[in-house]
Amino acid sequence: MEKTPAVILTTPGNTSIKKLQRRGGLTLWEKLYLPEIMRGMYVTSRHFFLNLFGFVFPPRGQKRSIFTIYYPEEIPPVPVAFRGRPVLVQNPDGKERCVACGLCEAICPARCISILGAERDNQERYPLEYTLDMSRCVFCGFCEEVCPKEAIVMSDMYQDLAVYDRQELVFDKAKLLVSVEKVQSRLDYIRKIYARWNY
Ligand code: SF4
Ligand code: SF4
Repeated sequence: MEKTPAVILTTPGNTSIKKLQRRGGLTLWEKLYLPEIMRGMYVTSRHFFLNLFGFVFPPRGQKRSIFTIYYPEEIPPVPVAFRGRPVLVQNPDGKERCVACGLCEAICPARCISILGAERDNQERYPLEYTLDMSRCVFCGFCEEVCPKEAIVMSDMYQDLAVYDRQELVFDKAKLLVSVEKVQSRLDYIRKIYARWNY
């Protein structure tokens, strides 16, 4: 059987090397084609019927064993590394953390952030207006990465992005602000990963 060279896999921060041997050719069984089609149909049908019967006759009082999630009644948990829509962090005193420095606006590749800065009586800077056009956001996370105040982070929210009118995706400051408790796990996570990348 023909073999392609091994691929060496590494992950950031992990120096261990794994070798993945990719097969370039097919076995005789695979070349026969039909047995593999039948095997694929068997796997697909097995999952289909298991999930169908699990849906029609859900086990009472038992932990469900099927993988289907009844969205939107059930919301799947998302990992902390997930990049949902960006949000502005609101401190417990109700003030935004943002100091309207404009770095996120400058770095955003989609040009979807627009900020109008102002100063409070005590010379504290804050965004008088902060607008983010979610219909243009590409969820790259650059704004989060560049922010010196941990004032904008990628949240686990994505459900309010399904709308019928694109204008509804232009989020103003009030719509972007989220209390710090709600994004604390993401803040802990970004502190860890950005420290590891040694910026
Ligand atoms: S995630 Fe990327 S595209 Fe979206 S607002 Fe931030 S920098 Fe812009
Ligand atoms: S980079 Fe951070 S502090 Fe600066 S304007 Fe953006 S959100 Fe505000």
